[in-house]
Amino acid sequence: MTVRQPPASQRRRIAILGATGSIGSNALAVIALHPERFEVVALSAQRNIHKLLLFCQQFRPRRVVVTEPAAALALIAQLSASGLASIEVRVGADALDSIASAADVDLVIAAIVGAAGLSSTLAAAGAGKTLLLANKESVVMAGPLLFAALAASGGQLIPLDSEHNAIFQCLPRDYRRNPAAHGIRRVLLTASGGPFLGFSREALRLVTPEQAVRHPRWTMGRKISVDSATLMNKGLEVIEAHWLFGLAADQIDVLVHPQSLVHSLVEYVDGSLLAQLGPADMRTPIAQALAWPERIDSGVARLDLLSAGSLCFEPPDLHAFPCLALAQAALRQGPMAAVVLNAANEVAVDAFLTGQLSFLGIAEVIEASLAAVIQTNVFTLPTVLATDSEARRVASALIQQLEKRHG
Ligand code: NAD
Ligand code: MG
Repeated sequence: MTVRQPPASQRRRIAILGATGSIGSNALAVIALHPERFEVVALSAQRNIHKLLLFCQQFRPRRVVVTEPAAALALIAQLSASGLASIEVRVGADALDSIASAADVDLVIAAIVGAAGLSSTLAAAGAGKTLLLANKESVVMAGPLLFAALAASGGQLIPLDSEHNAIFQCLPRDYRRNPAAHGIRRVLLTASGGPFLGFSREALRLVTPEQAVRHPRWTMGRKISVDSATLMNKGLEVIEAHWLFGLAADQIDVLVHPQSLVHSLVEYVDGSLLAQLGPADMRTPIAQALAWPERIDSGVARLDLLSAGSLCFEPPDLHAFPCLALAQAALRQGPMAAVVLNAANEVAVDAFLTGQLSFLGIAEVIEASLAAVIQTNVFTLPTVLATDSEARRVASALIQQLEKRHG
């Protein structure tokens, strides 16, 4: 049987920001299964031009952005040598906004890690795109600005984060960030517990970056892997759920579920709990979001519940993993506290990965930064960016002090 290729105009035109990362590459793996539905128009990477070149050969985008200038020059030469000189290469962080908001793009996958993804996420939202959002840090930093931009432009957000995508799937289709209107009591975010589940604080004193990035269930980028190990990932996700679904802090609970098969649940006032289950593979939420409201093959092996074993649930250990409690407290404090939390976490995780800070030091630095950075009540992009920079400066100084004390 031959599959008829529909005219190019009927295919959804996609830009992937952070194409070379774990989410970006998984998205391209799903897209490759459905050439009749999707056209890759733009890709971005920070510096991994080897992988970007392979994607250019496979998907033939119209344009790419490389944020590091030296890498961009090397890519231009390699594209030319591969007969792909017609692919336009744009350079620098500013160019990300241009591919996120381009007129010939319908759907933007925001898969850059950290605050580096904020500007392009806001650009896509402001341009009325369908935004498939993995870059949770941008929601944590600027949830109110992101939803204001979407409301003004008529854009739409579909979460890729597996927990939020699970919740999205368990909500009514016409859900509009108003839990009371739909009889929703609360959501339960599941957490795998990370590689150090069951460790005491004492045992956590000596854990290394190599151990921290070896996640038992998911293969992910280094930063989110450390966030999973500290439970800050779940903390960021609590704040993400607050903005995405309009839930109050006390309507977002966290359950440790080491099997990572139940990806989250929604509890309704009649006592119903709706859950989404599936293998621990990001291609499932990515395929769901790409095709919504239809369903498409993701390439993921089926989940066999008969061989899955028992499903266990337990409360998180906030004493051993204080980052989750810090994030919950920041959410209660107000949106600028989340900016400080996120910035201090990014700096602390980077210092941990480069051997300048201990694992337990991550939470210490975040807590001290939250106490030290003065937070204005005026919430605009300039005040967010100023608070982000100040929190990074304070966190770096704290890390230097800790290093001196320990070194
Ligand atoms: P990753 O480190 O594997 O990939 C990050 C991507 O962003 C790469 O393409 C990289 O080139 C690009 N990038 C990094 N720094 C950049 C910068 N300063 N400027 C421009 N581009 C830059 O990360 P990941 O695991 O794919 O995670 C991406 C985002 O998705 C994160 O916000 C993460 O929290 C979220 N997320 C990831 C997963 C997962 O399974 N990996 C699951 C849920 C949510
Ligand atoms: Mg998640």
